[in-house]
Amino acid sequence: MKRALITGVTGQDGSYLAEFLLEKGYRVYGLRRRTSTPNFENVEHIKDQIHWISGDLTDLASLIEAVRLAQPDEVYNLAAQSFVAASWPQPLLTGQITALSVTNMLEAVRIMKPDAKFYQASSSEMFGKVVETPQSETTPFYPRSPYGVAKVYGHWITVNYRESFNMFACSGILFNHESPRRGLEFVTRKVTDAVARIKLGLQDELRIGNLDSLRDWGFAGDYIKAMWLMLQQEEPDDYVISTGEMHTVRDLLDVAFSYVGLNYQDYIVIDPEFVRPAEVDLLLGDCTKAKEKLGWELEVGFEQLIHMMVDADLDRARKLADHTITAIY
Ligand code: NDP
Ligand code: GDP
Repeated sequence: MKRALITGVTGQDGSYLAEFLLEKGYRVYGLRRRTSTPNFENVEHIKDQIHWISGDLTDLASLIEAVRLAQPDEVYNLAAQSFVAASWPQPLLTGQITALSVTNMLEAVRIMKPDAKFYQASSSEMFGKVVETPQSETTPFYPRSPYGVAKVYGHWITVNYRESFNMFACSGILFNHESPRRGLEFVTRKVTDAVARIKLGLQDELRIGNLDSLRDWGFAGDYIKAMWLMLQQEEPDDYVISTGEMHTVRDLLDVAFSYVGLNYQDYIVIDPEFVRPAEVDLLLGDCTKAKEKLGWELEVGFEQLIHMMVDADLDRARKLADHTITAIY
């Protein structure tokens, strides 16, 4: 039985990846930091199948112990401060978790299980103010946020451990990927949640920032398969994972609101609070290498993804509405 250690298993990608690996018969170890309130929503259904290890990415001792306990064949390093907008008010924390802690994780593997295969969750945010379009594995980086800068460090230290210590370390440069498990602060989920609540009369407006930025949005459930495929190759390498299609935030609003028969222009309020100090105007990935070498294929398209998210948020909002009524009466 293969053994995998996942950091960030309570997050969007970690939860899909854990499901996927469990279905493949892996013994899955999940690193989990202590929280004062439960945060198991994404993994509630598989909670009992995951072997939980307590630890924090900033605490090397806990990571060494995690690798010792798990003895993993594969390590997926998905934990991060992952929200771009939060990286300006918390640049040092973002640097500690999203950048330097990648070295913590690599060190834990190098010391305890150097033959384990390692996946690092790199990001299209590294391309930032893009110097060419579309962006591929050879496009130079120009990050535009403390998050993007931190991810560039994480990317290069992964490459460096591969070249210095001959470790099987891969970096997946993933473009934005979403799902009903996406955090509520990200624009796709913020919109689909608002659509559901507005439709059910629980909210009357949506405050939002820049409508012109373009993103290459895919489905998280498709993207985690690429992570696994990278670790099944003969040689470690880095790959761009994307849809090769881009849409504006305005397109996103249109697809989400019109799905429930509403016009977004009747509900949005542009709020400077959601406009960023430096914006990434456009991201569009060229994933030819992943398609050719990994045989990776996309299954869910943009509209299908947004509809899936609206449906899930409608279900959640209905339950919440029922719950509120029960609570009042
Ligand atoms: P999420 O924000 O949903 O999940 C982040 C995870 O990291 C959570 O499980 C969180 O735990 C954990 N975490 C944060 N800080 C620490 C810490 N100090 N120690 C241990 N665990 C910690 O992110 P996603 O699932 O969306 O993304 C997964 C990875 O992929 C991230 O590294 C992200 O930056 C990267 N990425 C994501 C993209 C996307 O579009 N989704 C695109 C490209 C890269 P807790 O539940 O306790 O908060
Ligand atoms: P990112 O690409 O990782 O930063 O993912 P986000 O979902 O946070 O943001 C995607 C794009 O949507 C960025 O260009 C944001 O500036 C833009 N955007 C516009 N309004 C909002 C908003 O209210 N919240 C968020 N999170 N992003 C917004």
